[in-house]
Amino acid sequence: MKVTDGVYAYPWTNMMENNCNTYVLQGEGLILIDPGLNKYVPNILDAMKQDGLNPDEISLIINTHSHPDHLDGNAYFIDTDVKMTMHEEEEKFLEKIGKEFFSMFGLTDPRYRVDFFCNEGDLQENGISLKVVLTPGHSPGSVCLYWPAKETLISGDVVFSGSIGRTDFPGGSGPILKQSIEKISALEPAYLLPGHNELVEGKEEIKKNFDFIKRAFFSYL
Ligand SMILES: [Zn+2]
Repeated sequence: MKVTDGVYAYPWTNMMENNCNTYVLQGEGLILIDPGLNKYVPNILDAMKQDGLNPDEISLIINTHSHPDHLDGNAYFIDTDVKMTMHEEEEKFLEKIGKEFFSMFGLTDPRYRVDFFCNEGDLQENGISLKVVLTPGHSPGSVCLYWPAKETLISGDVVFSGSIGRTDFPGGSGPILKQSIEKISALEPAYLLPGHNELVEGKEEIKKNFDFIKRAFFSYL
């Protein structure tokens, strides 16, 4: 579904399974963010076509982090020339510890490439200028993606509508997540697109959401 010009969301609505929300950014080509579980990628591509997007125009997959419910679907594109990226710290984590998550999920080892690192700073693709913000705490190399031209923040599993990412997985840290949340709340987006559950739209609503999160969770982190 279209969120705003150039921004499309494919939210996961089935509570019985832990897939993630996938997002597509449209410029001169498409960027796919967090493809989710491999077995559901065809559903996303179908939904994109319904929205008038051509999946053949995907040139880059950005992984906000390496947890299986976000990363597994990279496998679908492994034999294509679609580029794949994640933060340098996240790839290190995935290689050392993160792969164990895949067997815990009943999945085989992840199939992915890292064509370049998605480190903090500017990322340009298809005429789209994104700011990559390093936001560890849920996972050591988690990133959020901010598209200033669209005031759109893709927050991975850092914050959700009314909630925050878990910090009890290996490589997680409550105090570090708190700093990451402070960092992204300063961006004042108009669209907050989290890795799970509902989207949050409107600057006021998003500010309220950050205020709620700080009140409800910060004393425990
Ligand atoms: Zn996660």
